[in-house]
Amino acid sequence: MNKFTTTQEFKSWRQEISGSIGFVPTLGALHDGHLSLVEKSLQHCDLTIVSIYLNPTQFSPDEDLRSYPNTLEMDLKKLAELSVNTVFLPSNSEMYPFGFTTYVNESYLSKTLEGISRQEHFKGVATIVAKLLNIIQPRQVFFGEKDAQQLRIIQKMVQDLNFPVEIVSCPTIREKSGLAMSSRNANLSPEELKSAAIINKALIEGENLLQSGEKDADVIRNSISKIISNESRISVDYVSVADSSTLREISSKIIDTVLVSVAVYLGNTRLIDNFTYPSSSSK
Ligand code: AMP
Repeated sequence: MNKFTTTQEFKSWRQEISGSIGFVPTLGALHDGHLSLVEKSLQHCDLTIVSIYLNPTQFSPDEDLRSYPNTLEMDLKKLAELSVNTVFLPSNSEMYPFGFTTYVNESYLSKTLEGISRQEHFKGVATIVAKLLNIIQPRQVFFGEKDAQQLRIIQKMVQDLNFPVEIVSCPTIREKSGLAMSSRNANLSPEELKSAAIINKALIEGENLLQSGEKDADVIRNSISKIISNESRISVDYVSVADSSTLREISSKIIDTVLVSVAVYLGNTRLIDNFTYPSSSSK
């Protein structure tokens, strides 16, 4: 497997490569959700490159950067089993050398949902994705719908700044319990893992209400909150029914596609999940 840790090494290798490149950026601690993106890239592109980089600028000082799971050897093994032959593993000094002062700041979609509790988060995400796209120069880049707001912000950045890349969105992969797979799930105790299953159950109930014709956004929000609050271990940060394109909260009747999303804390662990209604496949 090619393992590049510097931009320079990567670029001289990249110059010799022809054919389509698919790219999957990750923070590491890979699970089947990440691997589903990798598999899609392997199907679509001649060559797949995965980056593993725990980007510090998308974590605020009070967040879980230090406790973020680090399983590099296992990650590389999983990628090798899928026959991924190139990974990019830059260091912090490679990505943010002394004197680094330029950031990418999406200023509309970033202001809601995750952006309220995590104010600098999307600036860190957009900056590192912009850098990685410039370095890797893929034809397609793969992102998960699990991070729905991130996906929309990256789509907007690519459109606004004319990045020559196609974004491919990939469905959320779940545990048997329905819990969305996340690297952060590794930090949950067995009891917390059991409690976390309520998140998806509550979202399914919200989707059932929408399917049965409910148009009042408050009814959907309240129903989801009520179900989650049955689990005493969970504290809810937000339950949102937002316009799927603008990410602004719906205050009256639902007429267009909505993004229904939640963020909760289980102990110190923050978990997010969502669905879009109607989903693009059912429209
Ligand atoms: P992360 O390492 O958390 O930054 O995730 C890297 C990519 O994997 C992002 O595009 C995520 O949206 C995607 N991803 C994370 N969890 C899942 C999941 N359960 N299903 C599908 N994609 C996921």
